[in-house]
Amino acid sequence: MTTAFREHLRRGAAAMRIELTDAQADMFLAYYRRIVEANAQFNLTRVPDDPAEFIDRNLLDSLAPLCFDMLPEGCSLIDVGTGAGFPGIPLAIARPDVSVTLVDALDKRVKFLQGVTDALHLNAEAVHMRAEDAARTPNMRESFDVATARAVAPVNVLAELLLPFVRPGGAMLAFKGPGAQEELEDARFAIETLGGGCVRLEQAGIPGRDWRHSLVLVEKAASTPEKYPRRAGMPEKRPLRT
Ligand code: SAH
Repeated sequence: MTTAFREHLRRGAAAMRIELTDAQADMFLAYYRRIVEANAQFNLTRVPDDPAEFIDRNLLDSLAPLCFDMLPEGCSLIDVGTGAGFPGIPLAIARPDVSVTLVDALDKRVKFLQGVTDALHLNAEAVHMRAEDAARTPNMRESFDVATARAVAPVNVLAELLLPFVRPGGAMLAFKGPGAQEELEDARFAIETLGGGCVRLEQAGIPGRDWRHSLVLVEKAASTPEKYPRRAGMPEKRPLRT
């Protein structure tokens, strides 16, 4: 298993033009083992039976922004609703120059993540908070170069959960499926209201898979008005609309 895991990971990453050292491949394997182990104790995340599918769906998918130069050297990144650590942990393993903050509302998941970042000595920390509350703390508000999320909410909701964390000049980065374009159209008002600017949409391919994943990068053009994000639960319950 160990050799097959490393092989599949290295081959996939190479096809995406991402170079991984042996030490990094070992870290991905250690991370995978910790996930499988934790999942036997509590509901951490869905783990496919086939390790190759886990690699493609979670590890390589998380690394897709590296194919588009979306993370500047030495940037700070916050991953909101990170769950078992996607995309934040794979990005922290592949890019040790990026300082990663992992946020989740579920304490068990955050404790698991802290264990991973300690064991692997990652340039990352895990925070147990709801995004709506975290974005109001002065040391986190408008403090990150990039705020990202995968499988958390539609783009109009994500704009309110992510843009308040981003300093003007930075960007929010949403991992999306085939419906990204429609979600973006629904999110125009929210993006503008929250200080978002130019939008870039990229199709993110995983080698050998026909999944139609995409990445939505929204630049932060202006400061987010003080009243956003609204209190916990509201962004999802009443998404910003004209
Ligand atoms: N990003 C991961 C997990 C997606 S599941 C992945 O792609 O696999 C969604 C996660 O977001 C859950 O762990 C949930 O606890 C968290 N979450 C949902 N809304 C949140 C909020 N407002 N603030 C913080 N975490 C949130």
